[in-house]
Amino acid sequence: MYPVYVYRRTCKQIFDFCLQEAKRKPPREALGVILGFRRSWQGENYIRVTDWATGRVEASIAYARFTPEGILEYRLALHDRYGANPHTPRVVGLWHSHPFGGDPHFSSTDLRTFFNTPFCAEGNVFFLIDPLSRIFKVYMLRPRLEEPGLQLERVDWCTYQPSVPLGDAPPIEDQLHDEEPVEDE
Ligand SMILES: [Zn+2]
Repeated sequence: MYPVYVYRRTCKQIFDFCLQEAKRKPPREALGVILGFRRSWQGENYIRVTDWATGRVEASIAYARFTPEGILEYRLALHDRYGANPHTPRVVGLWHSHPFGGDPHFSSTDLRTFFNTPFCAEGNVFFLIDPLSRIFKVYMLRPRLEEPGLQLERVDWCTYQPSVPLGDAPPIEDQLHDEEPVEDE
C-alpha cells in the first residue's frame, strides 16, 4: 500500500511536458495541477492521481506561476474534459519542475504556496520534477505527530495501469512499480 498512486500515462505526460519546457532556450519551469481522488482502503488513506492540467504561466528557469488567464484555461479544459461527469477528479495538488539537471528541492516560495489557500489541505500532493536529471519526487501534506498542523513529507509512490474502470477497487491488484525511466530515486 502506497500513499500515492499515479496513473502511468499521467506520470509520463507530466514528465514529458516538463522536459519539453526544460529544452527551450532559455529553459523554463513547468507548472500544473494534479487531479485525482482521495480514497481509502482498509482504513488507510491514499491518493489516486488520474490526470493533470495546465494553463498559461509566467515562467523562467527559476520561476513559474499561473497567470489569471492560465487558471481560467485549466479550469475550462477540465470542464471540457469532464463536463458534469460525477466521477470528475478534484485538484489534489500541484506539480512543477526545476530544470537544472540536479537534485531538486522546494524553494521558500514553493512552500509558501503549498501552505496557503487553496493548496493547504491534508492529503494534498506535490510533485517536484527535474526532467534533465530524471528525478520525480512526491510529497504529501500530512498531520504533524506532536502538534496540530500539517507538515510536508516526502512519500513513496508508484505508477499504476488501470486494468478495470477507475472506481473504488482496491489498488493492490493494479499497482505496478515504475520501470520506466521516470523514477523516484
Ligand atoms: Zn519550485
